Amino acid sequence: MMGLMQQHPLLISGLIEFAARFHGDTEIVSRRVEGDRHRSSWGQVRRRAMRIAHGLDQWGLPRGERVGTLAWNGYRHLEIYYGVSGSGRVLHTVNPRLHPEQIAWIVNHADDRVMAFDMTFAPIIQAIAPACPRVRHWVALCEADALPADLAQAVPGLLSYEAWLAGQSDALYAWPQLDEQEASSICYTSGTTGNPKAVLYSHRSTLLHASAAALPDVMGIGARDAALPVVPMFHVNAWGMPYAAAMVGCKLVFPGPALDGASLFELMDDEGVSFSAGVPTVWLGLLARMQQQGRRPRALTRVLIGGSAAPMAMIQAFQDDWGVDVRHAWGMTEMSPLGTACAFKAKHEGLDEQQRLQLQTSQGRPLFGVDVRVVDSAGAELPWDGRKVGELQVRGPWVLADYYQSGQPSPLRDGWFPTGDVVSIDPDGYVRIVDRSKDVIKSGGEWISSIDIENVAMSHPAVAMAACVAVPHPKWDERPLLVVVKKPGAEVQARDLLAFYEGKVAKWWIPDDVMFVDAIPLGATGKILKTRLREQLMELRTSA
Ligand code: AMP
Repeated sequence: MMGLMQQHPLLISGLIEFAARFHGDTEIVSRRVEGDRHRSSWGQVRRRAMRIAHGLDQWGLPRGERVGTLAWNGYRHLEIYYGVSGSGRVLHTVNPRLHPEQIAWIVNHADDRVMAFDMTFAPIIQAIAPACPRVRHWVALCEADALPADLAQAVPGLLSYEAWLAGQSDALYAWPQLDEQEASSICYTSGTTGNPKAVLYSHRSTLLHASAAALPDVMGIGARDAALPVVPMFHVNAWGMPYAAAMVGCKLVFPGPALDGASLFELMDDEGVSFSAGVPTVWLGLLARMQQQGRRPRALTRVLIGGSAAPMAMIQAFQDDWGVDVRHAWGMTEMSPLGTACAFKAKHEGLDEQQRLQLQTSQGRPLFGVDVRVVDSAGAELPWDGRKVGELQVRGPWVLADYYQSGQPSPLRDGWFPTGDVVSIDPDGYVRIVDRSKDVIKSGGEWISSIDIENVAMSHPAVAMAACVAVPHPKWDERPLLVVVKKPGAEVQARDLLAFYEGKVAKWWIPDDVMFVDAIPLGATGKILKTRLREQLMELRTSA
């Protein structure tokens, strides 16, 4: 029997209409490429998103066509999010940290017809424009008088965003009543080998994901919060924050290009930021700044850490030193991206400090909407005993069914998406990532978790950043090597660092050696780039 409820599609235009209607004067604050701080509101974002929609109509851009962006987190990017998807076009956020050749490949693969970009990325645009003949309009996110003449000459069809918007009608735009299953945005995986793969999100998947993300045990945001996404809007839609924020009507604070600890601290402090989200590497800078200042940004109470494993020392520093709650979360581009988040249950009240921290280093429980299982190499399901380790598989309404135009068969197995992450799951459903399957260290037929090894190193006071990689070994196949960046001014010897492991991990897990370096290569999303690190080590070994 059919239920007698109304049928309304879940649409991104509905989010901006809601935010403008009920939270129209709630602020959207952005640090801009121009260097200043800009103040807007949900009401203004809606009006300018409508101008974008009028402008795209005027260009005759059909529904379903792609509009690309190469931009920092800021109000203009937010306007484009809503103007493009709301009017039925597909937003394609491109990661500017990729190599220009890869960017051109992605732009052409997605068949972007419009590209909007922050002036920081003008050199990239200049480099890729000749290779992207299908892009008809290049939109610089600046005022008309900020357009450099040489760029205009090099890039045919270049115009200023502000001039373009000023030329559009201010009339209310009638957002189309789309099918909620239609595509709303597209994001490419930051594939470290081969060409990146395209994940196409729908209006429905985006709204369901946003409502799960906002829940108390995940981001836990509401209308009184001021949220600052450090996670970039150019990768997996800043973990859904631009949508979740509209859904709850909170203030948004955008850092623009200034992601160093001092800039983040100042912006958070001034704007009363209560919640923020980012990868572990960005928090190192903020924590160092908090240490210097002897306090936290005044209103900061919660941070979501994900993208790679949050070290225990980082969780501890936020919570014990500064009273900032940590939510450790796991996800993937293929999952919009949130899959699990680590919040306590009532039964954990009685745990002691160490047990609570230990639990928080797990990636947490699945969000409602995400189903998980762990399987062995033959595909047989493993028990949730917190010990058996296998591949994590997921399914749900915001999990990928197939890559967009990959030319490959769907990656699903019996309807489950294989994540490539090696995990155990405990009886309460807490997922613990042991490693990426390609990063796990296989020593003497057993596995060593590079994440666990890194976590221990990160708790040493002299260590700023640590990465553990496998090096070939004649007897054991592979052995762990620890690569370390020391904190400025700190001193530690390899043998002391290795001794520090005793009693903390099994003896045979202790790395064979430590290598001190000035920097560890980071990928386009701020994660340690182990492929590159392994290549660098190989180069060193062959040249030695
Ligand atoms: P991406 O698609 O670029 O977002 O990368 C997704 C991958 O990042 C996952 O498959 C994991 O290997 C890794 N990852 C994400 N969050 C975490 C986390 N909290 N702990 C460990 N690994 C993570």
